[in-house]
This record gives sequence, structure tokens and C-alpha cells, in this order.
Amino acid sequence: MFLCTAANAEGERNTSDQPWWKQKKIRYFWGQWNRYQSEINQDPRGEPHVHGPDVLNPAKYLKETETLIKNLGDVGATVFVRYRPGYLAGPMYEENQARMAREHGMRYFGIIYLHTFAAEAKLFCPDRRISVDSEGKPYGHEVYGLLPCPLYEPAYRKWLFEPTLDAARSGLVDGLQMEWEPYGVRSEARLCFCDDCFQTFLSGQGETLEDLPPKDQRHGWLEQGDHLEGFNDLFAERRAEMFRGFAEEVRAIKPDFIFAGYDMLQWAPEIAPGLHHPDAPFFHIDNRHQSEAHNRTWWQSLHTYCKKHGYIRIGGTNGHILFGGQPYTAVSASKILYELAIAASDGYWVWLEQELTPDTWRTFWLANRMVQATEQKVGDFLLQGEPDTRFASVVEWSGDPVFDDMIVQRTYRLNDRHLLHVNNVHTDWPVRLRLRFPRLPAGSKWIVSDPIVEATYVRERRQAVWTAERLAEGIVASLPKRSELFVELNPTSQEEIVASGSVLFTDEGETMPPHPVGEPFTPSSESDDDKPSLAVTVTERMGYDGSDGWTIGNAIHTIGADGGETKRLRQVKGYLWSPSFSPDGQKIAFVHDTNGRGQIYVLDPDHAGSRWTYNSSSAVAPTLPDGSRWVNLSNNDYCDRNPVWSPDGKRIAFVSDRDGDWNVYVMDADGGNQRRLTDDPGQDSQPVWSSNGKRIAFCRDMGDDVDLLVINADGTDEKVVVRYLDDVWDPAWSPDGGRIACIGVDSPNENALLVVDLATGKVKKVLRMASLRGPAWSADGKHVAGVHGGGQKPDDTGVFLVDVDSYAPGFNVWGLVGGLKEEKNRLASAPSVRSYSADPPRDWTRASWYSKGGGSPRWVVKTFSSVKWSPDGKQVAFSSDMSEDGYFYVYLAPAAGGGKPKRLDATRSAWPNQIDWRP
Ligand SMILES: [Zn+2]
Repeated sequence: MFLCTAANAEGERNTSDQPWWKQKKIRYFWGQWNRYQSEINQDPRGEPHVHGPDVLNPAKYLKETETLIKNLGDVGATVFVRYRPGYLAGPMYEENQARMAREHGMRYFGIIYLHTFAAEAKLFCPDRRISVDSEGKPYGHEVYGLLPCPLYEPAYRKWLFEPTLDAARSGLVDGLQMEWEPYGVRSEARLCFCDDCFQTFLSGQGETLEDLPPKDQRHGWLEQGDHLEGFNDLFAERRAEMFRGFAEEVRAIKPDFIFAGYDMLQWAPEIAPGLHHPDAPFFHIDNRHQSEAHNRTWWQSLHTYCKKHGYIRIGGTNGHILFGGQPYTAVSASKILYELAIAASDGYWVWLEQELTPDTWRTFWLANRMVQATEQKVGDFLLQGEPDTRFASVVEWSGDPVFDDMIVQRTYRLNDRHLLHVNNVHTDWPVRLRLRFPRLPAGSKWIVSDPIVEATYVRERRQAVWTAERLAEGIVASLPKRSELFVELNPTSQEEIVASGSVLFTDEGETMPPHPVGEPFTPSSESDDDKPSLAVTVTERMGYDGSDGWTIGNAIHTIGADGGETKRLRQVKGYLWSPSFSPDGQKIAFVHDTNGRGQIYVLDPDHAGSRWTYNSSSAVAPTLPDGSRWVNLSNNDYCDRNPVWSPDGKRIAFVSDRDGDWNVYVMDADGGNQRRLTDDPGQDSQPVWSSNGKRIAFCRDMGDDVDLLVINADGTDEKVVVRYLDDVWDPAWSPDGGRIACIGVDSPNENALLVVDLATGKVKKVLRMASLRGPAWSADGKHVAGVHGGGQKPDDTGVFLVDVDSYAPGFNVWGLVGGLKEEKNRLASAPSVRSYSADPPRDWTRASWYSKGGGSPRWVVKTFSSVKWSPDGKQVAFSSDMSEDGYFYVYLAPAAGGGKPKRLDATRSAWPNQIDWRP
């Protein structure tokens, strides 16, 4: 591209001085290689699971292996992982294989399976120290072998360390894949309460006991003394230390030996820090996006977690899923691999246990070429660029949070050049975006281009130079469904350049026709016993009405808790969000979000809209009369969202992108005196007031993780109150002001309901489950209700309720903290629905990219959201699509539990309702 010659020369790719895993995206191939052609699957003994060179014709085996490895070389494989058949199968590498892999330009990894551990430990260490679980029993199984204490080094040495040292000494092996997939009793013991583990903890604490408690009482003893977390931490530290010592021995032989863990972060996340070294990073072979809970898209799966720890993360999939002939997703197998490598991780892995057909090879060839093509254009950014936290902000044009969730944004910096990578993850819908670049130096000038199509973004008269100020306003771009966009910024010292090559015209920070301002009003003070008690959003129609890009008609209704009379307060094109009653119940604040602009309005619920009675056979509400009383408090060209009333009703806190990125603002209740409270490069969201109105809590996304902060309502004394393992979200301030509940990523596999005591700063884990959202306090401050999802089984999403002071989660057999102890903690739940009758290989909930982003979901995970307590504390309202007709409705459930949730038929909506109770 002629315009950027200077910049490109400056940043010319030079990968040779980089370690191999940074030279290109990793194509990581592993599988049961001896099944790759039907001929060598012929087992003379007729035992389908006994494979290996020893039972086959060795010459033929060698020839087939050579063909396989040559083909993998042709499709760009960078790592070949050995298949190690059966148990006790000798060294973890095969000399011929290793040499062939290297001849064809690949790295060669050995492999070990956790499920061989129990048998080997039993065989090689008959006197091993046996593990003790929380009930005082050994982990493992009499037949397969009782599992040793997970800190009993000799068992690991015999099974894992010694063969690995042999492999490293051979000079033929570049790494080891450690398969940590659990096979029940043949896996590894977890949190262990044996004499050694227990005694070590006690001495560390300076505790002395005359006699150790009996094995079956140790867990209880720790729990009573509030020691469980400390015990857990010590276990994790000692395990990391044991594996660190081992990794150091291996690196003394081969300094860049790589340890790759499959499923390891899910089942034993404490090992990876021990194996990781900055000069030989831990490879996380991630399968989580195939089966994770539906609270995050697969594009984000463990991304920040791995980046923060410096791990290489490789996403991938099994051949039978990729090629199984089932319509998992509306994109092709090669495209899935491409997306994994470019957008979601540091490469792709494929596990193969099937015959490899010409179609399989063609898919790999194509995926490789697609990745190569992008590497050639922007590989320097993707491989060597620094993440450029929040250098760009992206606002989805229609204002639909479902679409917002489907936008994935990554930013990179390389010297003085920038790259923005945006993905529309959605398989069904295109999106339109405003891309803003708020943090460029004042007065700087830029050439903006699409490096993939080698075209330059121009303004009027093909003018290619953009000022920082214009880029802060943004450019507008459309993305087709399931597509990506790269935008590159290169600095220029020129004042003006008329582009003569390919150009892209763009709307500069375009905004659509202004939002109507409405009429000011004085809220009614007249008493009315008949005032409806709930405000809800309802999506009333979808479709194209022929005038412009509108697709959604959205309304705010008030409705009685008995479900009877409904009042429609506003109906508009675009989206209405966040209806929120003022503390005196006289006003409702809400957001009208469309055209890249969210505007905060208030209306008078008692002098707006029209009453009607819901009738399921003709559920058409009357048209709104003119003269409704409502007013636009925002009145700007930017996006304001999340209005929340101060407890005295005099102010409204909200977030806005008006100054470039998302910050927290406060205004008076009439829209006056708008001022910014926070000013930082992070993305601030979800403001909530303390009960005395003096402080505001909010979440801040700094790119690597999301923290919970508190700031005084006058903008002073900002501080972090929860910085957790990974992200923290959904803050809820307790009614007495002393605590904040929120949700955090607790392990790579689970969320936790956290309660932070603001006086002590102590964070208590109240509940752990696969996914949690939207905690809400009861008015008496004793209970928290919210939304939970299950694990991989397609059965339990719903609404939980826990007593935050007495509820303590118990340990299950894996030593992980379990979920809901009792049925009475479940106010509502719904099974997921199998969407078609084809027989999937496993009954997992294929969430996120299959159900949300995919064209043909196998399981539809039922959604619950917007949990809100009634002012009298007797009921909890929530929105769900658990109804058989698939629509969202508002439901009311008795907070005492035990009752079936009551559906309010008049709230039927195509999207989740947002709910507030009238005070
Ligand atoms: Zn132990």
C-alpha cells in the first residue's frame, strides 16, 4: 500500500529472533494417529483399543507414519504430538516419529495421560502415601489403585518426571502434552487431608494440637476455624512448587522445553504456574469453549486469564466435532480453525481419531492458507504487538446489548502503529459500529487503513489524513454476520494526502437524526391506590418497516403484580433499557438507545401512556396518545447508559462514552450539572450507589481483567475494593451500606458469588457455580438472589437465593466448592432444550458459539435475568424464556421458596425483559 511504505519499512517483520511459538500462529495436531487410515486400524488381536507399532507390521507402520507426517507438514502443522497407546507403553517419544516430524519442519511433543496415573502409582509405589478426602476416605479405587497424596513426589517422579527427563535428554523432543482430562477415580487426588498435608498446614499457622483430629473430622475442623481457604491456598502453592522443581530439572537439560496442559486449567489450575517460565511458556490446550457455561462467548474463554499469566493459549476442537457431519455452526470447519487462531487464541489444535479423508486434508490446507494470508498482512501485530488496552472503543449502532455481547475487540500496538481487530461473532446478524480512537496524542495525524484489503479510509475529496480529534469522534463501519475487520493506524507528519489507490469511504462519527427532546414535566403528587407496581421493557415487534434500518419496536410498560391491567408508557423504534423508578416512585428513568447513541430520559408514569387489559387472543396495545410527559436528560451526540437514581432521588449516576471511552458520570435529576467522576483508559460500567448516597461502586475493564472500584460521589478517593482472579462484575451494594456483593471468575471453570466487607476489605466466597449473574440483596440485607447456570449438563439454569451469612458451600469429591446445597435455594429452574433430534456424541450443553452465535444450536440454554426483590421482600421478579413457547416473560416467585413462579402473560417479549419495582 503506497501510503504506508515508510511505516511498513520501519516495522518490517523480523521473526527469526523470536522463539518458535512467536514466529507464527501455532497449528497443533494430536490424535490417535494409528487410526488415521483404516488399514492400520486392523488389529490382529481384534482389540480395538490396543494400538501401537508393536502389534503391527513395523515396516508398514513406518511408511504410514511417514505419509501422515508429510501430509501434516503440507498443511502447515507446527507441532506434532505423539499418540502413546495403552498403559505402561514405554518412553513418551518415538525416535523415528520424532525425526520425521523434524524433517518436515514440525516440533515434536511427547504425551502422558493422567488416567494412567492410578495404575502406575500402584505398581511402582506400593508404599505410597495414600490421599485423604474431605470425608476421611482415600481418593481412587481399590481395583485401579488408591491415589497417592497429590503432594507425594515419588509417585509423580516415577510416572511423569523420569520419562520426561529421558525425553528431554534424547534431544528429539520439544515438549510434553500433559492430558489432565479426568477419568473419575483414575485421575488425581485433589485437596488432601492426610497427616502430612494437615500437619504442614498446622505448622505453617503456628498451631499445635496434641492429637491430630481423626481423618474424617479434619475438613470440619478447618471449616470451623475459617481455615479452608488458607488450606486450599497452601495446597496450591505446594503443588506449584513440586512441579516447578520438576520443570527446572527438565530445563536444565533443554531450556526451552514446553509443557502443554490439556484440560489442566480446569482440573488442576495450580500446576500451570509451576510449569510456566517466561522463556518457555506454559501452553494451555483449551477445550473450554466447547463446553463452557453460557456466560461468556468462546472468544473470551480464558483469554484474559492466559494473557495475564503469560501462557500461550491454543483453542481447538475434536475432529469428530469439526467433521462429524452435524450442523454445529453455520461456518465451515476451516473458518472455525481460522477464527481460533486469529481472533481467539495463539493458534489452533485438532484432535483426530478418525480416518483422514481428502476433505479433511483440504480443510486443514485451507485453514492454514487463511491464517497465513492474515499473518502476512498483520502478523507482526498479532505475534509481536503489545496489547493496547482500550486504545479504541466500539459502540454497536443499534444499542442492543445482545449484539454488543457479540462484538469482540482486540487492540495491538507495535512501536507507534496501532491495530484494531473487531469481530462480529453473530452468525445471523450484521452489525454497524462506531469505532472511536480516544487516546491518540492531541494534534497527531494518522493514515487509517484496512490492511487486509489494502485500502485507505478517506474523508471528503479522498483526503487520507485524519487528526486525532476526528478519530476520537470515530468512523462508522459495517460488519457482515460472522465476520471480522482490521483497522490500522499509522502516524504521518503530512498535513494532507490525497489517496490515489483503493479507498474506503466512511461516515465520520456519524449520528442519525436527533432524539426527540420531549416536554418537561412536574411529577404528579396525586395519590392513586391503583398504581401498577412493576416497570418492564417489552420488545413488541421485530422486522423491517421500510423507512430505514429499524428492526425493533420496544416499549416500557407498567403492570400490576397481579398481572392484570397494563399501561404502556412509551413505545419507540430502537431499544429502551434500564427502566428505573425514582425513590419516590414518581418518575422512571430509562435509556433510548439507537443509532450509536443512548439517551437517558425520564417520564412520569402516572401521566403517560395508555391503560389496557391484556388479552392473549388480541394482545395488541393501543397507540400512545400524544402529549406524553417525558424529557431527554442527555441531549448529546454520544452514548449514555445505565442510569441509576441516588437514594435521595436528587441525582442520577450513569456511564457515557462522550469523552472517548466509557466513564462514570453524575447529573442532577433534571439533567443539569453533568460531570465526570472517573477518568482513566479503562472501560467503566455498572455504577451503583451506596445507601447513604455518598459513594458509587462500579466495574472497570482494563483489558487484562475487570476490577470492582468505589469512588466518592464527588469524584474523590477512587479505590479498588475487589481485584480477583479474573473478572468481577454485577456489583450490588447491601442495604446497610457495609458490604458489596458481586460475581467473580473464581476458577477457570467457575464463578463465585463474592461479598466484600468494606470495613475490613475481606472478601467472602458465598457460592460457587459454573455461571452466576445479577446478585440482588433483600431489603433486610440477609439474602442475596441472582441467576445461576449449571455445568456441562443441560439441566440447571435458574434463580438462586442464599442466606449470605450462614450459607457456606461444601466441598465435593474433587475438592472444588460445590453449588447450591439444597433445593430450597432454588427459586426457579429450567432444563435446556434439545433443538433437534440428531444424536450428538455427548450430552453436553453446547453453549455460546453453538447456541448464541451458532446457526444450529444443539441445546438451547434457557435464560434467566433481571432478578429484582419486591419492596416488601416477599417476592422476587425475574425474566426468563423458560416457557414452552420460547418467549421471555416476567415471573414472580415467592422469596420463601416452594411456590411455582407465576407468569405475567402481558409481559411477553422477544428479548429478556428488564424489570424494576415501584418503591
Ligand atoms: Zn496429602
